[in-house]
Order: sequence, then structure tokens, then C-alpha cells
Amino acid sequence: MVSEGHPRYASLMLRNKLVEGYERGITSAHGLIAHGRGEAFDYLLGEQTSESARKATKVACAHLLTARFPVLSVNGNTATLVPDEIAELHAITGIPVEINLFHPSAQRIKRIADHLHAYGVANVLTGFDFIKLAHIASDRASVDKNGIFKADVVFVPLEDGDRAQALTELGKTVLTVDLNPLSRTAVASTVTIVDEVTRALKDLVSFAKHFESDGHQDELNLLKASFDNLENLKASYAIMQKQLRSLAR
Ligand code: ATP
Repeated sequence: MVSEGHPRYASLMLRNKLVEGYERGITSAHGLIAHGRGEAFDYLLGEQTSESARKATKVACAHLLTARFPVLSVNGNTATLVPDEIAELHAITGIPVEINLFHPSAQRIKRIADHLHAYGVANVLTGFDFIKLAHIASDRASVDKNGIFKADVVFVPLEDGDRAQALTELGKTVLTVDLNPLSRTAVASTVTIVDEVTRALKDLVSFAKHFESDGHQDELNLLKASFDNLENLKASYAIMQKQLRSLAR
């Protein structure tokens, strides 16, 4: 039992959640390793949400609320870490949720779909009616014909670089959450939220609640138009450099 006063308390709780997800067959073993890569970057961010991350979250929200057909892509880690927030976002915006796994199996897809249904996500696309995207070597080349394939805006937290690039090349607006501002996903996406996914999704749900009512159209359009993803990534990178300098002292 870890006490709440432990300096890594929040981080250790996330690890417990993921291990539980793994034992339930929702998260893959590779997902646990990918989370470790994220943790290292979060350490350098001081394990807190930066101003630049919050700005990116607001802009991502603007894209989601003004999209013609947005889709949220969920993998084993996001399903395990943020099921409540996925359900809330789904309830507020009506966004369809598509399960898309780097290491897919019919069994794991069903487990994730059941898990999301239990949290109240009504519209879960399983990618069984799929189409293959070009230039992707992994199994993640498959996207649902009625989901990501049709979408103008895709929200793909914790994505891999090949797919993020392929989706951008298809002309889609790609929104992501990735603690590594140097990853191919972070650089290829239209809007990258450099934040831990549980913090980012909480903020995103708050923004969605605030902006969902009528009357924010001009503000949402302005948010989208004035955002520069690479500049925003540089701000996260600068925080990490500063943190490294202070650790080295
Ligand atoms: P790319 O292919 O985009 O260059 P990658 O191969 O490093 O990146 P993966 O290992 O496929 O990416 O995915 C893990 C990514 O997700 C990492 O960049 C990691 O920083 C990020 N990540 C992992 N866990 C979290 C988390 N809980 N919150 C936010 N980001 C996370």
C-alpha cells in the first residue's frame, strides 16, 4: 500500500491501473512498456500540466466541437487509464469511439468494447468493417469504414508515428496526446497535447463542457486558426531543458 504522501503517488497509481488492465486483457504487455517511455518525459515536465499543454487541449477541443465527423481512437492504454473521460466526452459531443490496437486480437477488442460499454460508451466501433490505409507496415493500418476512414477530425491519443503520418497525409486533422514532444506522432499531428493522458483528458472534458453551448463559434475558430503546433511543441521541449538544467545543478 503506497501512502498518498509518496512523491510518486499519482504515477504509481497509474502503474497499478495499467497492470490491472493488463491482467484483465485490456492493455497489452507492449502498452506497459510504452507507458514507461511516457513516464520518463513526464518526469521532465515535473508531472504537471504546462500552460502550453493546456492551450493545445483547448485548441483540440475547438477542433472536436467544430468537426463535421470527429472520431476518437482508443487503444488498450487509453481504455484503461481514462474510461470515465472517454464516456464523458462521448456523452457531451456524441463522438464515436473506435478501437484501434497496435497488437490487435479479436478477444482484446471485445474486452475493450465491453469495458467501454460498461462505462456508458454507446457507440463503439470495433474496426471489423475495415479498410487498409496505405504505407503502414503494422496491423494498425486498418481503420473502420464507418469511423476513422470517414472522419475529418481524428483524436488519436498515444498514437504511433506511422499512423499519425498516414492520417495527416489523408488530409485529416489529427489531434493527439503524447508526452514526448520529439516523437513522430507529436511532430506529424495538427495539434499535440504534451501532457499525461489522464490529466489531458480531464482538462479536455472541462473545456468541452464550457464550449459545448452555442455562442462560442468565433472563439473556437480563432483558437484553431491561431495555433502553431511546432511552436507549441518547442514550449514543452523548453520546459524539459530547463528541468534538466536544474537537475544537473
Ligand atoms: P513515434 O512512432 O510517434 O515516434 P513511439 O514509437 O515512441 O513514437 P509508441 O511507443 O508507439 O511511440 O507510443 C508511446 C508514446 O506515447 C510515447 O511517445 C510516449 O511518450 C507516449 N505516452 C505513453 N504513455 C503516455 C501517457 N500516459 N500519457 C501521454 N503520453 C504517453
